[in-house]
Amino acid sequence: MAWKIPLSDIAMDGEEIDAVRDVLQSKWLSMGPVTEEFEAAFARYLGVKHAFAVSNGTAALHIAHAVLGIGSGDEVITPSLTFVATANSVLYCGAKPVFADIAGTDDLNIAWEEVAAKVSPLTRAITVVHYGGYPCDMEPILEVARNHDLRVVEDAAHAVGATYKGKKCGTIGDVGCFSFFANKNLSTGEGGMVVTNDDDLAERIRVMRSHGMTTLTWDRHRGHGYSYDVTDLGYNYRTSEIASALGIVQLRRLEQNNAKRKRIADRYRNALEGIEGIGCPFSGSIDGESSHHIFPVVLSGNISRAGLQAELKERGIQTSIHYPPIHLFTYYRRLLGDTPGSLPNTEFVGEHEMTLPLYPGMIDGEVDYICTSIDEVTSGIPAGEEGSQGMR
Ligand SMILES: *Cc1c(COP(=O)(O)O)cnc(C)c1O
Repeated sequence: MAWKIPLSDIAMDGEEIDAVRDVLQSKWLSMGPVTEEFEAAFARYLGVKHAFAVSNGTAALHIAHAVLGIGSGDEVITPSLTFVATANSVLYCGAKPVFADIAGTDDLNIAWEEVAAKVSPLTRAITVVHYGGYPCDMEPILEVARNHDLRVVEDAAHAVGATYKGKKCGTIGDVGCFSFFANKNLSTGEGGMVVTNDDDLAERIRVMRSHGMTTLTWDRHRGHGYSYDVTDLGYNYRTSEIASALGIVQLRRLEQNNAKRKRIADRYRNALEGIEGIGCPFSGSIDGESSHHIFPVVLSGNISRAGLQAELKERGIQTSIHYPPIHLFTYYRRLLGDTPGSLPNTEFVGEHEMTLPLYPGMIDGEVDYICTSIDEVTSGIPAGEEGSQGMR
């Protein structure tokens, strides 16, 4: 399917090609000096003490929960309106994800009141997701964590460059996790980063990323010893010099690309404001700045999402859904026994959210074409099968 306007597109040019060529010509492809440079630049950009490049965002999340000592019998409170990897990474540690509802149809982030209500004697951590790059209201969440001696993990996969009260997302909790998957704001194809200000956690992250080994192949290549010890159960979650070379260039351009995304998001908001039944979440002001990873809209109950998506597809516009709630997936229902109705706001948004194209290279005419198309389709479309339950 050749889309007229795809959901996302990577902003990339000759600089990335040069950077990758340099790595290939150096003939050192596995984690080494280019990765160290990427990590240092990323840490500097975020204003965080330690950054470790890993193979993907899911590995970052697994490492984060593991180094916090989360294991069998523990509970981690997390949203259900997120990518499945957020909750899977808790399961990898043998712990149980406990889902808390989002605030509503405008604030799609986890609600601190819902988090507080889900705390039990088994709770060890709160894992938040900055949905779409819009920062969670971290202050009350950190307060719940302090009151119950819980750790806080930030799944900042959407939020590279986003800020909350002057701090970069990912640096506010104990450990922050980023993804550099192909459709993310900073893309290396596959990749991720774990960040922390805690020296002890940093040492455990470093070791866990590479088999629990005390030295890297790169260290030995430089003559730093011949042997190594294994001090913990580790994994191979390393990245490559090729990905890191892409990351360095992409990071340099991130602020500029996020600013382009913001301009497009603002144009969407203005154009969609007047269209009946189309809600643009995160309409309120935030003490910070979104990274504008995606542009979600929430449809009123009388608009058929499937019908609208099909009509937009006819017009060459790709759309998506963020997200089918995790607690209703077959595997999770079998495992945890959740039933529909347990997270009403999450479920409403899961049924009525639609994600519109957003990427730095989008032009105004494309945004206008999408908004005009939505206006035309929604004015002509009869009520959908869901019935008019209205906005909650
Ligand atoms: C992309 C994403 C991940 C997983 O990252 P990968 O690099 O694909 O493993 C985790 N959480 C969220 C919210 C994501 O969007």
